[in-house]
Amino acid sequence: GEEDKICIIGSGNWGCAIATVLGRNAARLPFCNDRVNMWVFDEQVALPSDKTTAKLSDVINALHENVKYLPGVKLPSNVIAIPDLKEACKNATLLVFVTPHQYLPDLLPTLRANVHQTRCRGVSLIKGLEFDAETKLPVLISKSIERAMGGSFKCGALMGANIADEVARRQMCESTLACDFGDDECNERTRLLFDEPPNFRVSRIRDVAGAETCGALKNVVALGAGFVDGLGFGGNTKAALLRVGLLEMARFCDIFYQGVERGTFLESCGIADLITTCYGGRNKRCAEEFAKLQLGEHKANCDELWNDIELKMLNGQKLQGPPAAKEVYALLMNRGLLDSFPLFRSIYEISFGGRPVSTITEGIHVIGTTFVSN
Ligand code: NAD
Ligand code: 13P
Repeated sequence: GEEDKICIIGSGNWGCAIATVLGRNAARLPFCNDRVNMWVFDEQVALPSDKTTAKLSDVINALHENVKYLPGVKLPSNVIAIPDLKEACKNATLLVFVTPHQYLPDLLPTLRANVHQTRCRGVSLIKGLEFDAETKLPVLISKSIERAMGGSFKCGALMGANIADEVARRQMCESTLACDFGDDECNERTRLLFDEPPNFRVSRIRDVAGAETCGALKNVVALGAGFVDGLGFGGNTKAALLRVGLLEMARFCDIFYQGVERGTFLESCGIADLITTCYGGRNKRCAEEFAKLQLGEHKANCDELWNDIELKMLNGQKLQGPPAAKEVYALLMNRGLLDSFPLFRSIYEISFGGRPVSTITEGIHVIGTTFVSN
């Protein structure tokens, strides 16, 4: 077939880490154009060498480093930063979606008009939730991308235990590509574009709904993990929280999606991502800080507190756990399902409802036995 042309939509912490993998693979694989375009939301950044500032896109192209969002890691020189979205995605055959979720919708019309009109497909690396405006039911981000792109555009998801800084430093990990582009050659080509053995090992499954929903919901559980750490508990309590978190993730999938497979929870996108996020992720780290502040005399407005922590600890990177916790809570409340999700409920109430952090253990409570069926 014809050659693939990759465009990465986003250049934050994970966007730049996956760019290191895609850049090396594009240079190595015969069926892919060597050049990888990376769309950059431009901003002025401070240069490490002196006290001046410059445009982030210029800095990336000159130094081959995103000095703000992935400092200390060299990007392959065939990864080109482009601030103009139209130019970046022109004739692309593979779009890699990796912006914080809130920034995605505005970009889609430009992408639709400029990508390769018959051969383009997408892979979403975005971990978040979206809802249908009328039914208020959850919609997969990959599905909403498909709808916005129109025609026969198909979108899968790459989810896994992939803390960006570790991937960028080439530490061994696994990742799960969930997709079905309706063509085995295209499925395998897409997997090969991400797979970089022996360090970044990608396996493919068909269950997009399961993979994507695990990726979104583990960010909620990670807030609970941060609370448990902030309280000073050890591994036993955190293990209990992870176990109940996984059960609620599975129950959520059973209620809101059809065809989610139990095996998906055993892939990198399931249990493995849950573990790494709950030990070393940004959501966990910021929730631990939230717990410590709430345990002190700090009784701030919760939304402001999360914003302050994000700003102070992440230097422009974005948390997806707090918005996801809110969205999950609103959905479960509207459907009268809160009693079936004591952990998600507790995490929301502690995060936004002024409930004491110390009550997190009351949420670690199994309702029913969802996981044994199916
Ligand atoms: P990030 O948290 O580093 O976010 C910062 C990015 O947002 C920067 O590129 C910034 O330019 C951009 N931005 C700020 N304002 C913007 C605007 N108005 N419009 C468009 N872009 C704007 O981003 P990330 O870590 O690359 O995360 C992207 C997605 O990947 C998220 O859904 C996240 O959950 C997921 N993810 C992250 C990791 C990780 O370890 N960082 C791992 C797996 C998945
Ligand atoms: P955080 O956003 O909590 O850092 O999680 C990163 C992640 O998704 C790892 O796979």
